[in-house]
Amino acid sequence: MALIVQKYGGTSVGSPERIRNVAARLLATQAEGHRVVAVVSAMGGVTNRLIELASEVTAGAKTTEREMDVLLATGEQTSIALTAMAINSLGGSACSLTGAQAGISTDGVHTKARIANITPEKIHELLDGGQIVVVAGFQGTTTDGSITTLGRGGSDLTAIALAGALKADLCQIFTDVDGVYTCDPRVVKDAKKIEEISYDELLEMASSGSKVMQSRSVEFAKKFGVVFEVRSSLNNNPGTLVKEENMSMEAVVIRGVSLERDQAKITISGVSDVPGVAAKIFQRISDANIVVDMIVQNVSRTGIADISFTLTKAELGKAKEVLEPLVSQFGGSAKLDAEDGIAKLSVVGIGMRSHSGVASQMFQALAEAGINILMISTSEIKTAVIIAEDRIDQAANVVHRAFGLSGATA
Ligand code: ADP
Ligand code: ASP
Ligand code: MG
Repeated sequence: MALIVQKYGGTSVGSPERIRNVAARLLATQAEGHRVVAVVSAMGGVTNRLIELASEVTAGAKTTEREMDVLLATGEQTSIALTAMAINSLGGSACSLTGAQAGISTDGVHTKARIANITPEKIHELLDGGQIVVVAGFQGTTTDGSITTLGRGGSDLTAIALAGALKADLCQIFTDVDGVYTCDPRVVKDAKKIEEISYDELLEMASSGSKVMQSRSVEFAKKFGVVFEVRSSLNNNPGTLVKEENMSMEAVVIRGVSLERDQAKITISGVSDVPGVAAKIFQRISDANIVVDMIVQNVSRTGIADISFTLTKAELGKAKEVLEPLVSQFGGSAKLDAEDGIAKLSVVGIGMRSHSGVASQMFQALAEAGINILMISTSEIKTAVIIAEDRIDQAANVVHRAFGLSGATA
């Protein structure tokens, strides 16, 4: 008898029929003789709708993040109850648990909390009683009882962390595509499903926009060695296995292409090229819990420097708010410019460690399509560029093709 954690995302529980489909799949897994823990997301679109509602009642003013978490957690709370009801109506026996009831403790960083600890006694107790346990994804509780959420896509993290804490034999992430593809199949029609991918590659893809998995969940899986599979809730096709890299994985230079829309850029120009300026800027940014992506500082010839960095468009307002007073303090010719309408395209593969020429091949493909590169960054297994957002789909297709990902079996 194995212990299996199955996570079902928003589309998979997006309607009453879909919830009944999930209930039937969970029951079928249990009928094979397994102990089953389900993690479910809010029904598709619900989290976004709750965010819109919050913005409407506050007339666009800043919302309290603590209250935002109380609100957002209701999406998953609805799904667990409905899923458990559906299982029970099909003759099974299920019990729903909120994040707090499931023993998921987090830090107090509302809307982006980190899991600190999991005490799964209640889950074990229910499993021992033969129940299917349906846990709310995306949420936890602080030690003083406040509801927290784990960042967008956070149900993936709930599933991986529970699989780790429960020492599950299998962790399956069910979604609306057959697995991890060489690029988002909605953008690149001839993208291919990848059979096996290393944690590092999926982590780079996820953190550069492939939202098929939340990046923090992949980081967690790598840290705790949780092997998992991404597959479809709508068929029985084999999915993508995510695990530690092996020798054969290195033979592939580029595993996939990621794109990330809704990016923004801030440039602080005309600051003195002296120690401490960057520290002051990025201290403010980190104090505001804003995640920065690429950072570029120009080479100063006159003792004056320009620093540019990218962040998500959603955090642009907050970043301007914390930086504008600092830029005024810098005085002189210092000024802040903010721009959105940009996007990031990345190519990822552990084979890049031992193969050269990836960057030039990518830049060549973009040049041939007349797409201008605004910023570039590289890591050991990734090359990324910032381009105009309205060219991103075309860029993904030309780069995907240039690396031969379209025709090949991944
Ligand atoms: P869920 O609601 O199940 O968590 P998500 O919408 O978060 O599902 O993630 C699945 C979606 O991720 C797919 O519908 C697909 O459009 C998108 N996606 C982006 N990049 C990839 C990729 N490389 N492979 C597969 N899907 C991807
Ligand atoms: N419902 C949350 C979201 O939409 C969490 C999740 O789906 O994983 O981000
Ligand atoms: Mg998701």
